[in-house]
Amino acid sequence: MPVERALERLLEMADAAPITEQETLSLDQAMGRVLAVSLAATLDLPPWSNSAMDGYALRLADWQGTPLVVSQRIQAGQAPEPLQPGTCARIFTGAPLPAGADCVEMQENVDVLDDQRVIFREVLQRGDNVRPQGQEMRVGDPVLAAGVRLGPIELGLIASLGLDRVRVVRRPRVAVLSTGDELVEPGQPLGPGQIYNSNRRVLCSWLERMGCAVVDAGILPDDLERTRERLAEMGEVDLILSSGGVSVGEADFLGIALREEGELALWKLAIKPGKPLTFGHFRRVPVIGLPGNPASTLVTFGLLARPYLLRRLGVQTVQPLQVSVPAGFDWPRPGNRREYLRGRVQEGRAVIYPNQSSGVLLSATWADGLVEVLEGRTVTQGDAVNFIPFSEILQ
Ligand code: AMP
Ligand code: MG
Repeated sequence: MPVERALERLLEMADAAPITEQETLSLDQAMGRVLAVSLAATLDLPPWSNSAMDGYALRLADWQGTPLVVSQRIQAGQAPEPLQPGTCARIFTGAPLPAGADCVEMQENVDVLDDQRVIFREVLQRGDNVRPQGQEMRVGDPVLAAGVRLGPIELGLIASLGLDRVRVVRRPRVAVLSTGDELVEPGQPLGPGQIYNSNRRVLCSWLERMGCAVVDAGILPDDLERTRERLAEMGEVDLILSSGGVSVGEADFLGIALREEGELALWKLAIKPGKPLTFGHFRRVPVIGLPGNPASTLVTFGLLARPYLLRRLGVQTVQPLQVSVPAGFDWPRPGNRREYLRGRVQEGRAVIYPNQSSGVLLSATWADGLVEVLEGRTVTQGDAVNFIPFSEILQ
């Protein structure tokens, strides 16, 4: 199954199972959360016309080339008097324009005479150096649409409207299961044939960054009875996310348990790393089974499970930004799967980590993102390739 098709299917299923419950949070709690209702402007921004410069405010028609008396001084935060006809006002950036003034001359273009009157050295036009009331938005204008993820910029915009609370979609509850008899948690001694569980850390930390409430369901041994039990104990969650145990041909206990008490689709994705992916339900709870190799888990979570989860929260733009950069490497052998190579952009060219084995997580710490090589294609230095920065998907 091509990657686009798998993503399309996942997004269809996400659209059919939206998480709709909302909560109200203060702005300092809302970072990374998803806006639940569209926001319209509750104020004009700016609320009144103000000066964009330190300088002098005047009515253009009053200026005939002769010096003007400075009749008031207006600093940011002060309420001005109406401008006396035939005079100008000393004004500073962000200070309200006095009624009657229609432009501001920056102080660099003004000469102050000995008697404190001023001369303007430049030809002005009405509106010069003025930020008019409502230039950014007017009361009632759409500001942010439901489904927007709140980052520092969105939160700042909401604050600029004077709002201290925001309505967001509740956190999704995601259970993380690591499968494999060979897995041991860090901090424990390593026995023969064992490895440390790294996927759990990757997935739990990543989900937390995405604003999920993580239910850490620990390590699941490769055993059907234990798998059935663990799934049944899971409680109220919106998604069960497992890693490992979905390699085609191997005893797939998660798959068996899902078939018994739910439904299962096993997809052979045309993606490398990460061919097998499970999507199913256990008693109506969606389950995504990611392949266990650390680089496969990373790529399939970032490109498939993450967009699925965000879409369940109502986020529309779930695809990461990709940038086209010239390749700084050769990829002479075409593959039949789309490859996501761990790489970085160096001096304007995409370069890749020498060891692209799906078991090597170090490749991804060296890298700043994923370099896409399309199925059936080769790459020669200088060819354009797509680069997906990790910063686009790791949040
Ligand atoms: P599997 O998908 O279970 O066949 O696992 C594929 C490879 O990924 C095997 O080498 C596993 O040992 C490894 N693996 C599976 N789960 C984890 C995990 N949670 N942390 C680190 N490696 C894992
Ligand atoms: Mg396994």
